[in-house]
Amino acid sequence: MGGKGFMKIDGYTRVCGVMGNPVEHTMSPAIHNTLAQALGENLVYIPFHVPAGHAGDAVRGAYALNLLGMNVTVPYKRDVVPFLKEIDPLAETIGAVNTLVRTEGGFKGYNTDMPGLYRAMSEDGVGIEGEDVLILGAGGVARAVAILAVRKGARRILILNRTLEKAQRIAREVNGLAPAGVQPASALALEECATLPGDRYLAIQATNVGMFPKTEDAVIEDAAFYRKVHTGYDLVFNPPRTRFMALVEENGGRAFGGLKMLLYQGIIAYELWTGAQVDAGLAEKAYAAMKEAMHIS
Ligand code: NAP
Repeated sequence: MGGKGFMKIDGYTRVCGVMGNPVEHTMSPAIHNTLAQALGENLVYIPFHVPAGHAGDAVRGAYALNLLGMNVTVPYKRDVVPFLKEIDPLAETIGAVNTLVRTEGGFKGYNTDMPGLYRAMSEDGVGIEGEDVLILGAGGVARAVAILAVRKGARRILILNRTLEKAQRIAREVNGLAPAGVQPASALALEECATLPGDRYLAIQATNVGMFPKTEDAVIEDAAFYRKVHTGYDLVFNPPRTRFMALVEENGGRAFGGLKMLLYQGIIAYELWTGAQVDAGLAEKAYAAMKEAMHIS
C-alpha cells in the first residue's frame, strides 16, 4: 500500500471492475477500493464502459485478462448470462446477474442485489418473515424483491404497478415459487391503491419515481395509503432521502433509503471475490467513502 489515496500497482495486482453503459456515475470503485485498502489486499477496482452489443466480448475478455471478478450493471445483467460457465441458483431464478466470480474455466454468475437488500434490512432491524409486503413497481428490481419476499416467508405479497399486467405476471411467477397450497402474491393497479386491503404493510418502493433530478415526485401522494405503511424502504438511492420516505415518516412509519442496499451488494461481491469477511466497522468505512463520492454528508 502507498500513502493516502494512492495504491501501489505491481505485477501481482488483482483487477476487478464493473461493466455497464453508462458506467461513469458508478459509486462502486469507492466501495471496493476502500475495502481493498483497509484489508491490505493488492487489488484495484475499475469501471469499464462496454459498448452496446459487446457484453459477451467483455466477459470473455475479462476472463482472458485474468480479472478476479466483475460487477455487471445496466443494461447487461441478463446479457452476460449465456457467457457464464456456471450460474448460482438465486441468480438463475431472478434471471439477472450483477457479479461474476472467476472459477476454473470461466466466470460463475451471482446476484448480490437481493442478498444486499436483505443484509441492509437485517442491519436496520427490518424482517420479512410473516410480513404483509407491498411492492411498488413491477420492473426488474421489483420482480427480484418479490422473489426475495416469497423466499423469506412473507405472509402476503401485494404488487402495485402502473401497468397492471406486469404486476400480474410477477404475482403468478411468485406464487409458483411458494410452498404447495400457498398463494401469497396478488397484483393491483397503482390507480386502485385506495382499495388496498389490510393496514400494516412493509412497503418497498421499486419504481424509478423520485430519482434525481425529479426529487419532488412520489409514486403515490395519498396520505391514507401511507397510514397503512409501518415501514417504507425506498430502493432509490439518489437522493438519499426521497419524498416517498418523507411521506412514510409524516404518516407515522419508519423509512429507509436505497444507499445501504447499494453498499451491501458491493460488500457481498467483494466477499465472493476475495473470501474476506467484511465486519460492521469496515462496512461503515466503505459506506462513508461511498457517501463522500456522492457528496453526501
Ligand atoms: P425498470 O425495470 O425500468 O422498472 C421501472 C418501474 O417503475 C416499472 O414498474 C414502471 O412502471 C415504474 N415507473 C416508472 N415511471 C413511473 C411513473 N411515472 N409512475 C408510476 N410508475 C412508474 O427499473 P428497475 O431496474 O426495476 O429499477 C427500479 C428502481 O430500483 C430504480 O429506481 C433504481 O434506482 C432502483 N435500484 C436500486 C438499487 C440499489 O442498490 N439501491 C439497485 C438497483 C436498482 P410500468 O411497468 O408501468 O412502466
